[in-house]
Order: sequence, then C-alpha cells, then structure tokens
Amino acid sequence: MINLFTPAEIVSKLDEYVIGQDDAKRVLAVAVYNHYKRVQFAQSGEKSDIEIKKSNVMMLGPTGSGKTLQVTTLAKILNTTFVVADATAIVASDNVGDEINKMLIKLLDKTNGDVRAAERGIVFLDEIDKLVTGVNRMKGESIQQIMLKIVEGTIAEVPYKGQTVKMDTNNILFICGGAFVDLPGIVRSRLGERESILLSDFQVLKEVVADDFATFGMIPEFCGRFPVVVVLEALNRAALKEALVKPKNSLLSQYKKMLDVEKVEIEFDESSIDKIAEMAEALKTGARGLRTICERFMTNIMYDIPNEKNLNKIIITADVVAGVGKPKYIYSVSQTDPELLPLTPKSLRATNAYNDEGVTNGN
Ligand code: ADP
Repeated sequence: MINLFTPAEIVSKLDEYVIGQDDAKRVLAVAVYNHYKRVQFAQSGEKSDIEIKKSNVMMLGPTGSGKTLQVTTLAKILNTTFVVADATAIVASDNVGDEINKMLIKLLDKTNGDVRAAERGIVFLDEIDKLVTGVNRMKGESIQQIMLKIVEGTIAEVPYKGQTVKMDTNNILFICGGAFVDLPGIVRSRLGERESILLSDFQVLKEVVADDFATFGMIPEFCGRFPVVVVLEALNRAALKEALVKPKNSLLSQYKKMLDVEKVEIEFDESSIDKIAEMAEALKTGARGLRTICERFMTNIMYDIPNEKNLNKIIITADVVAGVGKPKYIYSVSQTDPELLPLTPKSLRATNAYNDEGVTNGN
C-alpha cells in the first residue's frame, strides 16, 4: 500500500535524511504527489474527458549532490517498489532491448512477481546523460527512441521466469538523473554572457528549456517525456559538514553504530569534522567525498579494533583525518599486562583492580 503524503509532509520527511536542496525537494515532492494522485484517479475507474498526463522527472545535479539519496528516501517514505538502473549499462550493451527490460524485471523481482504492485513502482535511471556523452550519436538516439514508449506508458512484454509477462508502464514513475556537465554552458550561451555571468551553474540550470537538452544531444521526444525538471546544487563546505553529522543515518552515526557493536565509543572532535568537510570539498565529488576521506583513516581503526582488549573509546582529531596523527585510544584499564608484572603485593593489588573493571585474572 502506497503512503500518499502531501508534498509538505514529503519534504519534511526528506529533510530528515537530505541536507539542503530545498527547491529540488519541493519540486520532487509535488511531482510524486501528483503522480500518485493520477494513479489513484486512474484506478478509481471514474470517467473523465480530461486525461492527466504522466510527469516523469529529470534530475540535474553534480555527482554527490544527493540525486540517488533523494529518490531512494522518497521511495522509502512512500513505501513503494523502487529500483535503480544505470544508463551506462544500457549504452554498453549489445542488446539494448534486453537491458531496458531489465529495469522492469527488477521491479517484478522486488514485488516477487506481483505485476500490479510492480506497475506502480519507481525506476531511477541514473547517468542518463551518458546516452549522449558515453556513446556514438546514432546508438544514443536509437536507445532514446526505444525507451520512449516505456517511459511514456505502454504494455510491455517482459520475459520473466520463463514466461512473458504483460506489464503496463503507464503508472510507473521514471526519474532520470545525470550530471549533464556541459549543460550549464549551453544554457549560458543561450541566455547571453551578460545575463548569466554572475549566476552559478545551479542558477543557470534552473533556466533550462527543451532546446538546451536538444543542443546537448538528447532527442526532443525523449526530453518531452520528462516534463518535470529538478535541479540540485553542489554542496558547499558547510552543507558537507551538515551532511556528515545531521541526517538520520549520517556517515558518522554509521561509524558510531559499527563500533558500538564492538563496544567501543568513537568521538569525532569538532576539528576533525571541519577537516573532513574541507578535504571532501577539495575532492569535488560532493558528499560522496565524505566517505572517501573517512574510509582512509577508519580502515586502519576498524582493522585494529577486533584485536584490542579493554578499549573504551577512540578520539578522532583533524590530524588523524589529515593523515599526520594517530587517533587517541582510551582503555578502561591500564594496558600493562598483569601476567608480565612481578608478583609483588603491589602488583597483586593491581590485578585485583583489573577485577574491579570486570576483567578476569585467570583465577
Ligand atoms: P548523486 O546520485 O547525486 O551522485 P548520491 O545521492 O549517490 O549522489 O550521494 C552520494 C553520497 O553522498 C551518499 O552517501 C549520500 O548519502 C550522500 N549525500 C549526497 N547528497 C547529500 C545531501 N544533500 N544530504 C546528505 N547526504 C548526502
């Protein structure tokens, strides 16, 4: 059963997981709300002279700006079947039709073959700009032609578990995503240098029109099937910092959880968080860079931990992040091995002290 929240409710739920991108969240929320209203209306069997057209969505934004995150979160909020596909796989395939069918097969897999449920799902097709930049023009255009019917709505015949399943794609919401690196330049030259010189790529992309996609190399009929355009902006350092700590399921809370399983606390001091954001910004891969930076120093820590005894807490500083310092390990008891101490009354007292911390002394 799909949860049909209002656009405002969808945005407030997205806010729990996605930092910034306020415009994108609103546009996406309205598009999705309208889509499922349309689906509800179609399924109510009510007659009307007015046919509400499907509003597939095109998401434009640099890598690591949260395109996949937003759509994945959205699908969770709505409790709808959701699959991710990648246009690079379609481009690389010798059998484009098969590769396109795979998106529908994945939907069927997700619903355990329940065709009705699969027909109300969401397909996120990433790297859609590769249909232009990752392939020769003829093949790119022919892929777009083949996809037209499916994204617009047709009865597709899908090979599934030895049978041919008829699947109506009318109510499947297709959301495409891509970085479209050269598109801001195309919009800028249409707007004129004077008008666009002070605008960021994000502001420029908000002015995008169908002709710009055509100049980029997409075929107009294909872009016409994606009437809703959502633009995401590159995350600046402050947003990267927030992305690290604030969302439910943030990267740092994931590391904390992972170490919690080992009964070790990890603290990222303020300087370390600043450093991670600073270094991630320099990588220019958006929030994706946060993980790249963290993995560099976390891998050693996660290697060490299972071998450590009595380790209570780890403190991460900016130096650790920058690779010029070691993390501070705090133990619940002194690290001197009681077995190696001479058996003086004093050391026996020390062994008893270990007992107080819950560590056995072998007696
Ligand atoms: P894209 O699809 O735009 O390339 P993703 O959605 O795959 O980017 O994001 C890459 C990583 O960065 C994911 O781990 C995601 O959780 C994180 N991320 C990206 N954008 C945001 C954001 N706006 N808020 C919080 N985390 C983000």
